[in-house]
Amino acid sequence: MKKLLSVLLLFLLTTGPAGMAQSKITLPDLFASKIQGNYFLYDDYRFDVSKVLNDEHLEEACNECIRQVGYIESTNLPKNITNFFKTVPVTLLPQDQLPQTSASSATLRGMYLPNESAIVLNIDSLYQNECDDYKDQTLLHELLHAFHHQRLGSNNLAIIKFFKEAKDHHYYNSENDPYANYLKSQTKYAKLKTNFDYMMRNDHEFFACTSIAFLNDFAPYEPFSRNNIYQHQPEYYHYLDNLFQTGRDPYIIERCLFSDFIDYLY
Ligand SMILES: [Zn+2]
Repeated sequence: MKKLLSVLLLFLLTTGPAGMAQSKITLPDLFASKIQGNYFLYDDYRFDVSKVLNDEHLEEACNECIRQVGYIESTNLPKNITNFFKTVPVTLLPQDQLPQTSASSATLRGMYLPNESAIVLNIDSLYQNECDDYKDQTLLHELLHAFHHQRLGSNNLAIIKFFKEAKDHHYYNSENDPYANYLKSQTKYAKLKTNFDYMMRNDHEFFACTSIAFLNDFAPYEPFSRNNIYQHQPEYYHYLDNLFQTGRDPYIIERCLFSDFIDYLY
């Protein structure tokens, strides 16, 4: 009987019948229920938190993971791609345990490790809030690396061709890009100034950075906008459109990362 009552109580707490006052479950309880063993689980995404279980910012970092998953879902990628994303192991690590890289002096937000077919995310950059629009996209950026490596093939000839074309013609150089110049005038994006080098570092960064701009309409770093890709490389634009099955119109602004950019455009 006691067991039956507790089951009933649990049912009432989790479902909340019509007319009943708000459930008494608090956010920390909900958060705790999503940690199972070494994993934080959300919407079929699984984050290994075994290395950061005692980190005082774990909850904030997991909330950021939820926000980033929401961001991925909002891009309306086809199920076969998001289902693939959910299979990629993601581990949260403290900054001092991240793999060493000589690539950049900037703080490493995340990294795809091809040898392990897995992603590591920097817990420090997940909970810090200095540049939301940029931070939003770290998980998707790394998952796109995983997709490139595991599904399209590391040496995908089409992507290499489009990358070389962009490099040879100096496309996406922000010097003459009004959107880039607008962003650079904003203090909070000042540190993003050198990302042109990042995007053009290799065919993998090229694919991830252009895909983010394509899927989101805009990105706070080169190539900055989906339309920009269409203007410079219509063939590549159609390649991405075919790959992601989004059927988006290159000229229509559906949504915008930066609300004031609409005013700037017109
Ligand atoms: Zn990358």
